[in-house]
Amino acid sequence: MPADPPSATAADLPRAVQVVVAGGGPVGLAAAIELGRRGVSCLVIEPRTTVSHARPRCKTINVRSMEHLRRWGIADRLRDRAPLSPAWSQDVVFCTSLAGYELSRFTGVLGLVPDGDRFPELGQQAPQYVLEELLRDVAGELPLVQLATGTRVTDVEQDEAEVRVTVSDEAGQRAIVSAAYLIGADGPKSMVRERIGSGYLGEHALRPNFGMVFRAAGLWPHVAHGPAVHYWVVNPAAPALLGPIDTDGTWWIIAFGVDRETGEREARRLIDAAAGVPVEATVLSTDPWTARMQLVDRMRVGRVFLAGDAAHLNPPFGGHGLNTGLGDAVDLGWKLAAVLQGWGGPRLLDSYQTERRPVQEQVLREATANMAVTSTELLADNLGDDDAAGRQARQAASERIQQTKRQEFHALDLVLGITITDSPVIVRPQAPAKSFAAGTLLPHAWLGPGRSLYDELGEGFTLLRRGGNADGEGIEKAARIRSVPIKIVDEPAPDAGGPALALIRPDRYLAWAGNREPADALALIDAVRGA
Ligand SMILES: Cc1cc2nc3c(=O)[nH]c(=O)nc-3n(C[C@H](O)[C@H](O)[C@H](O)COP(=O)(O)OP(=O)(O)OC[C@H]3O[C@@H](n4cnc5c(N)ncnc54)[C@H](O)[C@@H]3O)c2cc1C
Repeated sequence: MPADPPSATAADLPRAVQVVVAGGGPVGLAAAIELGRRGVSCLVIEPRTTVSHARPRCKTINVRSMEHLRRWGIADRLRDRAPLSPAWSQDVVFCTSLAGYELSRFTGVLGLVPDGDRFPELGQQAPQYVLEELLRDVAGELPLVQLATGTRVTDVEQDEAEVRVTVSDEAGQRAIVSAAYLIGADGPKSMVRERIGSGYLGEHALRPNFGMVFRAAGLWPHVAHGPAVHYWVVNPAAPALLGPIDTDGTWWIIAFGVDRETGEREARRLIDAAAGVPVEATVLSTDPWTARMQLVDRMRVGRVFLAGDAAHLNPPFGGHGLNTGLGDAVDLGWKLAAVLQGWGGPRLLDSYQTERRPVQEQVLREATANMAVTSTELLADNLGDDDAAGRQARQAASERIQQTKRQEFHALDLVLGITITDSPVIVRPQAPAKSFAAGTLLPHAWLGPGRSLYDELGEGFTLLRRGGNADGEGIEKAARIRSVPIKIVDEPAPDAGGPALALIRPDRYLAWAGNREPADALALIDAVRGA
């Protein structure tokens, strides 16, 4: 693996780039990769010189994020680095402890098993740092992307012509970089958000949670439930959620309702209680956190856009925060590139907030609903008893778990199914079709073994001609007149149903669909490019 780049100094920074990205976390790096691949020069400002392994945080990289990685050509690189393959386990187990009774189980969770044609890439379980290290490497391979670690954004000013970003290095030296646009992907404490006068609205959960990473090489033989990606421990001594980081004995755990002080004092007791047996464990790092349910009031002010945790925070249940942030990065990335390349119009940038906000709101609602029932809420008398009362309590718990937790682990309708209903750059008929409608993600199809329809799509727009339809000349010509990159793809034998023509955006959403070309193809192209 290439070494981390040395810290940058103010003197190393360019005076001007097309886009400055504040924050080289997963979302900022994803935005830079989307932009850099599209020929846009960008500078990523990031204080951390190395990626810490102390806080694995995101473990669930969902099928939609994996699809972005596939489009960037790096899905396999992530799988090569991930300590656990999807084949290792696709189960979530609820139990009284790792060594104790099983209460309930969900199988085929979190997009870890194929689902017919539904998506081309399985989800992947991997600690967030594995993804971040890969994204750093990939950003570093793009000639137009510069990652300046050891630097931070300290001020932002903008006018009609440009945005000027003040960057400070570790020695306190400053540089001002001007750019056409700034993306604030600088996390929950975003300096960019503060500078543009945007603010979070929403709530903060009161319950503390205590995260740890620990090594317990001798723990696996005590695990009574076989491999799983999550073990939800329903046990009054340590209501918790834990899972393996690798198969060698490194684990993450979240102890619910435990504050920092208690967690640090009682770390070993919490691990033993979750394991159900005393184990030799070494705590490698701790990470206390509380859940927040917050969205910014404005995701854009002038030339500055917010993305990722700088713009929205949701409880981690269901594994959506980072994945939603990657969705922001992709959406903003292709739209900014289109505008910088001259074919995207101003409404394309307006559509960023219009399109992403409903997605973020829906994710926030689901993640909050997921948080309503955790191990703590599932506690009940007798769960650990080896008698009739125990069996009855476990049966009741199992029923409750199946009723309340299924959606959290089988959330593909949320991950793939969100429809953009109100966007200035999506042309929807008065009565949109139920499937294959403008504003939905292009339904995936396998064209042959391992050959995805998505792999055939262009980097710009794609006109999909379905079922031998040879129409589409007018749309193609209109796109060329407006310099909109377009690729024509014939899908010879699509599943029954759906329109004969579909105009697909770079993010694989349908911008328009119909059985024949509209009378004014130029008006269609102008609408979808936000002119
Ligand atoms: C316990 C837990 C579990 C989670 N599990 C999941 C999961 O399974 N799936 C999921 O999708 N999400 C999960 N999340 C959420 C996920 O961790 C975040 O959504 C994700 O880190 C957001 O990425 P980001 O790049 O927006 O922000 P961050 O990761 O916070 O990155 C922001 C970056 O900005 C940098 N920065 C800060 N200040 C400045 C400045 N002034 N100038 C420049 N740079 C700056 C920081 O150094 C940092 O690198 C979980 C979170 C928690 C707490």
